[in-house]
Amino acid sequence: MPVLVMKFGGTSVADPDRIRRAAKRVGVEVAKGYDVIVIVSAMSGKTNELIGWVGETSPLYDAREYDAVVSSGENVTAGLMALTLQEMDIPARSWQGWQVPVKTSSAHSAARILDISPANIMAKFAEGMSVAVVAGFQGLSPEGRITTLGRGGSDTTAVAFAAAMGAERCDIFTDVDGVYTTDPRISSKARKLDRIAYEEMLELASLGAKVLQTRSVELAMRFNVKLRVLSSFQEQTDDAGTLVCAEEEIMESKVVTGIAYSRDEAKMTLMSVADRPGIAAAIFGPLSEAGVNVDMIVQNISEDGRTDMTFSCPTEQVARAEKALKAAVETGHIEYGSLLADTDVAKISAVGIGMRSQSGVAAKMFRTLSNEGINIKVIATSEIKISVLIDRKYMELAVQALHDAFDLDKVG
Ligand code: ADP
Ligand code: ASP
Ligand code: MG
Repeated sequence: MPVLVMKFGGTSVADPDRIRRAAKRVGVEVAKGYDVIVIVSAMSGKTNELIGWVGETSPLYDAREYDAVVSSGENVTAGLMALTLQEMDIPARSWQGWQVPVKTSSAHSAARILDISPANIMAKFAEGMSVAVVAGFQGLSPEGRITTLGRGGSDTTAVAFAAAMGAERCDIFTDVDGVYTTDPRISSKARKLDRIAYEEMLELASLGAKVLQTRSVELAMRFNVKLRVLSSFQEQTDDAGTLVCAEEEIMESKVVTGIAYSRDEAKMTLMSVADRPGIAAAIFGPLSEAGVNVDMIVQNISEDGRTDMTFSCPTEQVARAEKALKAAVETGHIEYGSLLADTDVAKISAVGIGMRSQSGVAAKMFRTLSNEGINIKVIATSEIKISVLIDRKYMELAVQALHDAFDLDKVG
């Protein structure tokens, strides 16, 4: 029988009533003759609550126990979804990550899926089970411990299952009816896209659009999974939602496809660093070893053999970055005048594969921000994106102004 993967996010399984609504949707697909893998998130707000409890109990927590606690939200919804389906006379069974097993790396709280063995589930389908409900976001490390896949990780569980089982499609049900030109919560003019290319979705996700976890898009692209984002609160039609697909399958031809923002960005500056060969390696080597995700980097003009080095990283990693840099000073690998951390910044990015062949996008972006009186602190570009760091208080304004400037509310 053909297999379908259906993933329900936190708001779609927020209480028993919502779980029933989601289960009805699953029932429709079962009636069509599909074997369905349902991936569930924790009820909305649950994961945040669990993370809060861990921090309250142990500020410098053991990452293995963090995962033991934080993964539990999905166990509850998996069991409830299986029970709900059974109540509807649909043969269903729930599976926690370790039972499948979903094998992952041992990077607790940010583990990568290494392998999914679908044999157990396949055998159950062969025996007449119609739905396997799998707890998203969790897996099993080589050491036999429970791991989690990072925030939003249920999306990745879903795509990984779709790839492993050769599913016909992977449907991601969420609280918006698709992928928009920007976060509809920030701009009322945001427009739903019928299709978006894997590459663009990958950039948008990694630059802050949390509608899909970045790794889920990476996997979908690598394994050519037909990935759809749609609302669990609207009628399901064949053309509902947004299809994430290959570039060749897209008709729209806008230069910029979407605007992403990331609120939790920090700008760090090392003042007066010796400008010598090897200095960048001496700074960014220890940062990388400490697990700091450096994004933008700017080295300024040097004067008298000294220069300033600026980089951006997630706000939550500032303390870790400071610690790594101070350690590098103590071991004599680097030396600097002072270290400034600006945590009141946000990153705004314009993304579009059309940028590959059209110039002038950066100039238009900078002009738009300047017309709004917004100062740009750092700039970074790649083939299909331009990102800027600005004061966080201008974040919404910048997103809306850029959305207007690139006519994203209009079909192109
Ligand atoms: P779920 O709990 O279903 O996984 P998430 O909260 O993780 O849902 O993701 C959905 C949210 O992503 C939306 O409510 C929306 O605010 C946000 N979002 C950010 N950027 C976009 C975008 N470009 N298109 C759609 N939603 C977006
Ligand atoms: N419950 C997890 C989170 O909130 C995973 C997910 O929902 O995708 O991050
Ligand atoms: Mg999510």
